[in-house]
Amino acid sequence: MRNKYVMANFKMNKSDSEVEEYLKTFLPLVEGNETKIILSIPFTSLKTAIEKTKKSNVMIAAQNMNENEKGAYTGEVSADMLSGLGVDAVIVGHSERRSNFNETDELVNKKILRGLKSGLICIFCVGETMYERKNQMTEQVLVRQITEGLKSVYANELKNIIIAYEPVWAIGTGVTPMDVEIVETVKVIRNILTSMYDEKIAKDVIITYGGSINEVNCKEIGKFEGLDGALIGGASLMPEKFAKIVSAFKPKACRKKKD
Ligand code: PEP
Repeated sequence: MRNKYVMANFKMNKSDSEVEEYLKTFLPLVEGNETKIILSIPFTSLKTAIEKTKKSNVMIAAQNMNENEKGAYTGEVSADMLSGLGVDAVIVGHSERRSNFNETDELVNKKILRGLKSGLICIFCVGETMYERKNQMTEQVLVRQITEGLKSVYANELKNIIIAYEPVWAIGTGVTPMDVEIVETVKVIRNILTSMYDEKIAKDVIITYGGSINEVNCKEIGKFEGLDGALIGGASLMPEKFAKIVSAFKPKACRKKKD
């Protein structure tokens, strides 16, 4: 049975002391929770967050990294620097990086390969724009993003990949897809993985959804069949709200009833 993952993306929000304050409130709220929790926070607070979450059930992720091992890349941060610090995971291919920083599928793939090599869990974001959905291009886009993004990734490395299906039009907009759209798209993603690897391997890959999840709609989304969790931006910035979202993705919520 696949684990449930609920992941925060703070984006460019919160100073180091604000992250510390956040954790003071958040950690007691999720203590003992079986759901895997990952907080993706700014580089400047990674060290603080790692120290403060050491004895907790919360993992820490970076929001980006450079694809090269090391060298003359002023201002960049490498995968080894992150894993050396104790970071557990990294977000790769977020739509804000694809659109604002021109990150291509090829670059995303390089980052994934580098992240895996350094022992990081890669939170691999994929998703279509509204134009692409309206023009029935969703599957085509996902096939491209996933086959390119996971190029040269071995089956045994998929345990360190979390796919975050994030339709671009749902991120930060307050609009979420219909339940059937999420469930069907997760199936499409699993089929793509099946054709790249095989059914048994694809069955074990963690596939989550992200885009305008909040403390209200999480109750429904948390029960969607086949969905292994969520990536949350805006609503993760408030510890009480995010803790509520975490509790909506209990492992047992998706267990299929036996006849
Ligand atoms: C995100 O940025 O990954 C995200 C899901 O944002 P929001 O929850 O704010 O839509």
